[in-house]
Parts: sequence; structure tokens; C-alpha cells
Amino acid sequence: MNEINTLKAEISAFADARNWQQFHTPKNLSMAVAGEAGELVSEFQWLTADGSRRSALSAEKLSAIELEIADVAIYLIRLADVLEVDIASVVRKKLAINDSRF
Ligand SMILES: [Mg+2]
Repeated sequence: MNEINTLKAEISAFADARNWQQFHTPKNLSMAVAGEAGELVSEFQWLTADGSRRSALSAEKLSAIELEIADVAIYLIRLADVLEVDIASVVRKKLAINDSRF
């Protein structure tokens, strides 16, 4: 099992244990992705471009950013799971489309 599928299973088990499957509709999960993306963006709000680079971030700030990246990933992986979308496959498909466009 690849890493993404392992994470899918772990996230699904986490939701099962809390009886959260009922809330994990594609609509709700897509909104959760957007909400967490907003939280990620807020960590960079008011930083300069150079101030947003890893070398300029405090350990505390970097940790907060890491946790928001995780939140986005968790909901995105969960959304893909619920919709039975193979993330690796669609990423490669989109990269091929982008490759022909740019
Ligand atoms: Mg968050």
C-alpha cells in the first residue's frame, strides 16, 4: 500500500472512531479544504516575500504552518477517499495537461 493509501485508511479510521463519517460529504469536505487553506494563508498574512521563506520563519511559525498544511492534506485526502478518486493518478493526469499548456 502506498503512503497516500495508508493515510486514507488512517484518516478514515479516525473519522469512524468518532462517528464523523456522517458529516464527511463531498460538500462539507471541500468546504473544509477551503477553510483550512484559509488558515494556512493567514499564517503568511503580512509577511514579506522574503519573510515567508523557511530560513526567515521562527520555529513556532514554521510549526503552525506545518499543522495547517497537514489540515489541508487531511481534508483533501479524505475528500478524495469519499469520492473514490486516486490522488496520484489525477495529479499525474493534471501534470500532463499542464505540460501541454505551459
Ligand atoms: Mg487548521
